[in-house]
Amino acid sequence: MSILIVDDSGVVRSVVKKSLDLYGYRDVIEAEDGVDAMNKIKSVFQSIELYVLDVNMPNMDGITLIGEIRKLDPATPIVMLTTESDKQKMVQAKNMGATGWIIKPFDADKFIKVVEMFLKK
Ligand SMILES: [Mg+2]
Repeated sequence: MSILIVDDSGVVRSVVKKSLDLYGYRDVIEAEDGVDAMNKIKSVFQSIELYVLDVNMPNMDGITLIGEIRKLDPATPIVMLTTESDKQKMVQAKNMGATGWIIKPFDADKFIKVVEMFLKK
């Protein structure tokens, strides 16, 4: 089972990847925007157990990506990576099918707590 991380910031992707690695989650797929994510998940969405999505990205943003993922995969948890200033978008994200969110910046402990909360469901 894998975790998909989608963020246009390479720094955020590597922080997320390192946090997951620290806690033993090694099967991580990275994508840099919504278009890249859809290309990568179309064939493997059955094996994804958690989606972690940035909100603001070029080509296809995180809100649109939620809708695209939900056409294929209605049930797997989607956690949004957001900033304080994105809070209004979270209502929109929830309506599109997001399961929860993590406010940036975050540390590994906080991130893993949220991840494990959603993996258990
Ligand atoms: Mg971004």
